[in-house]
Formats: sequence, structure tokens, C-alpha cells
Amino acid sequence: MKETFKIHDGMAPPSGDMSAQEFRRFGHELIDWISDYFERIENLPVLSQIEPGSLKAQLPSSPPAQGEPMDQIIADVDRLIVPALTHWCHPSFFAYFATSTSAPGIFGELLSAAFDNKAMLWRTSPASTELEEVTLDWLRQMMGLDAGYTGIIYDTASVSSLHAMAAAREGVEMRIREEGMSGRPDLPLLRVYVSEQSHSSIEKGIITLGLGQRGLRKIPTDAEFRMDAGELARAVEEDKSNGFVPFCVVATVGTTSTSSIDPVPDIVPICEEHAMWLHVDAAYAGSAAVVPELQHILAGCERADSVAVNPHKWMFTPFDLSVLYCRHMDLLRRAFSLVPEYLRTPEQEKVRSGSDYGIQLGRRFRALKLWMIIRYFGREGLAARIREHCRLAKLFAGWVEQSADWQLMAPVPLSLVCFRACPQIDGVNDETRGKRLDVLNEAIMHGVNATGKALLSHTKLNDKLTLRLSIGNIRTTEDHIRQVWELLNQQLAKLSGDLT
Ligand code: PLP
Repeated sequence: MKETFKIHDGMAPPSGDMSAQEFRRFGHELIDWISDYFERIENLPVLSQIEPGSLKAQLPSSPPAQGEPMDQIIADVDRLIVPALTHWCHPSFFAYFATSTSAPGIFGELLSAAFDNKAMLWRTSPASTELEEVTLDWLRQMMGLDAGYTGIIYDTASVSSLHAMAAAREGVEMRIREEGMSGRPDLPLLRVYVSEQSHSSIEKGIITLGLGQRGLRKIPTDAEFRMDAGELARAVEEDKSNGFVPFCVVATVGTTSTSSIDPVPDIVPICEEHAMWLHVDAAYAGSAAVVPELQHILAGCERADSVAVNPHKWMFTPFDLSVLYCRHMDLLRRAFSLVPEYLRTPEQEKVRSGSDYGIQLGRRFRALKLWMIIRYFGREGLAARIREHCRLAKLFAGWVEQSADWQLMAPVPLSLVCFRACPQIDGVNDETRGKRLDVLNEAIMHGVNATGKALLSHTKLNDKLTLRLSIGNIRTTEDHIRQVWELLNQQLAKLSGDLT
């Protein structure tokens, strides 16, 4: 019998990969397993309940010398891995930015793993390169971004923004690519501006690019946590008068703590006046622009230089897939293109090669999953789901506002609610009350999370511990929102006795 027709009872054959029959068998089993997982996910605790180190303690410390049967490996996924998961796809996952995968996204990942293309050059994966161009153009149209933008996929928004800032730095014409920044007394301090509410990834990007934390200036925000454009203009003027070179502003549309939206239309003229690159970090909120009545959140982007958006946050795309839309692909290419002889191809002048636009050579075939998602749900289907999340957030915010025991801590422009318990505490001054409420709210959050029925996270706003309810999971319904509201009130009732 030929090797390919042998059944190996789930064991690896003596040479080559798993047989086609076994691949089919385990493949079917795994798809069944995933379907069951989604059916039973609500019975699993959202936050993993394991103690630190307990998974490691159950795993052998050295690899198996001989292969092990696939059935056993899959059984161990159930036995060992699932309890150590925090279930991001649980519909009551409301922490950080709630996200989820979707069926077409999973299929896209599966196929891309099967093709295993490394899209470094056009010819190493024409499908990946060209599908990326088409799919990102669809997404651009869906978000209402103008045709001057070209999209490129990276893994995360941290990396998308890093590349945008690298392109901006290339634009200052100081030969940094060729000569670097160290040991150069001729280089002035280059400055990037963000709001105090910007994501830490921008600061990490600054550090990575060798601009140094001193190269980042944080601009205060207004009462609604949006960058104060007047303060930005003053900071830029002051820096210029000190001989610094302001070259980039990163505005955030949908900040991490509160989902506040920086006033991009007011920031644009400041950037234009001082010839600064304007990058818009819309990692979370950008997806909301596919909802026609929310497209205004990207107002001003028609005069920005680049925009980052993460379909892996709020477009039901399995992690990872972040998109950078850029108007100056020439600068991005100048910053990163380096083609050694072994990568030279006859068609290189006519086609796009992903590796010319970033630090990676090989690139995953990520466009496939986004293409499948957009085709399966359609523009209107995606918009309807995102619109519903915003409705649920408003509904929850309404309950908070109507209750004397709770208060909203920030406006709710999209699907994130910032709130905290604020019951009456008699006989203490404001400072003591504030501290006790911090302790109470933290205890409420841990209490809800410990039930395993929902997961919340927190932030600090105006120095007050604030709870965040983020809605972005494709399976979340009004019932889940009602349930978490009940859990919160149960915890409040249980803990408020300790307040006096
Ligand atoms: N920018 C914003 C506004 C974010 O909220 C986040 C993550 O939540 C990021 C950037 C970083 O995203 P990523 O994990 O894709 O790097």
C-alpha cells in the first residue's frame, strides 16, 4: 500500500506530513470542536481562573522525542489550554476594547495557513498582494476615506503607527535613513505631538525610531478628553522658538481610555501651517466609519497624511490585521525599501511588493480573511452590527444616568461606556469619599470579574478610578448588557455596606 493511503491512527507517518485522510478526519473534528466551543462559550468563565504558572506546571519541560497521537493533542487542548484561556469571544467580554473573530474570518485564517504564502515580493504571492490592494480599497470606500489614500496591512496598530512616523521622519529630509541619528550634532530635536490620552504604542514607536521620549510632547486635553488644539498650536510655536523641529502630530479618533475623538479639523491647519505630518490613530473607532451616520468621526482626515485602523478590533477579524492608509507611499517606500540581488525581479518596477513598505520581509496573507468578512457580511451587514453595539452602549449609559448610585465619567460617542459607582457616603470630606469610591469601584470590578460571567477593565479619569464597558463582540446582545448591569448592582449592594 502506498504511504499516502495508510491510516496512522493519528500518529505522524515515518516521513512527510499527515496523510490526506487523516487531515480530513481531524480537520472535520476540529471544525466540530470550534462550533461546539462557540455554542458552549457562555458557560465558560470569561477570565481564565488559573493561578499564574499552573499551565506551565502541567506541561512537560522537554519536548517529546517521538510524535504523539493527534487525538491526544486535541484532548489536551480541551484539558489544559481551554482553562488557561481568557475568552475574548465570550459575548460578555467587555474589557479593554472588546473584539471577536467571526466564521468567515476563521475560514480566511485557515486557508491562509494552508497556502502559507510569504508575500514579500509580488511574485511570491500575487494573490496576497493584489487582494490586499483591492480589499483595502473597498474598506477605504466603506470608511468614506478619499481616493488619495493607499492602504497597506501590518500586524497591529502599534506597527502601523510606527511605520507612519518613520515615513514622516523620512519626509524631514535630514538623511536619517543614511546617517542615523546618533553622533550627529547637526540634528535638532525632532518633535512628535500627541494628546495626554494617546495610546502608549505611539510613545513606544518614538522610542523604537530613536527619537527618544524627549521627542514626544503630550498636549493637554479638554473636559471631554480631546486634544486641545490651541495648546497644540502654542506648543509647536514654543518648540520652534527653541530651535526644535516639529514634524508630526498623532491625533486619536477613539482614545483607549474613553473613545474621545480629537478635533482633527482643528488640528489640520496647524499641521499645514508648520508642514507637519498628521497621522490619525483610529485603531478602534475607524471601523465605526462604515456606519454612514458615524462617518463624521473621520472629519478632517481628507487633509491628514495617514490613518491607522484595526479591523481586528471592531470588524470581526481574527487577530491580527491592522491597516495603514497613507497618502505618501513614496515616503514609506523611501524609508523601508532595500532590495538585495536575491530579491530582484523583472517585474519589480510595475508591481507592488509589500516588503518595500515595512520592516518585515515575509508578510502573512492577511487580506484573505478581511476580503471574506467583507463579502460575507457586506457593507450594510457590518454597519448594522457596529450600529447595534453603539445602541447597546447608549442603552447602558442611560441606565447609569438614571441611577443615583452610578455616574457617567465621559461622553459615549461610540460603544464604550466609562462609569463608576458613586453611592452616598456620610460624614467624610470629598477627598476621603473619592478614595473610598476608588476602592469600592475596583472591588466591584474584581467582584464582577470573579463571577466569570462578565469581564470589565478600568482606567483613571481625572484621577478617579473608572470602570469601562466596551461593546464590540459579534455575539453580544441586549441580554448580555442587562446581565452585566445586574452583576454590577449586585456587587454594589454587597460592597456598599463596607463604605462607612
Ligand atoms: N491605538 C489605540 C487608540 C488603541 O486603543 C490601541 C489598543 O487598544 C492601539 C493603538 C494598539 O493596538 P494594537 O494592539 O493593534 O497595537
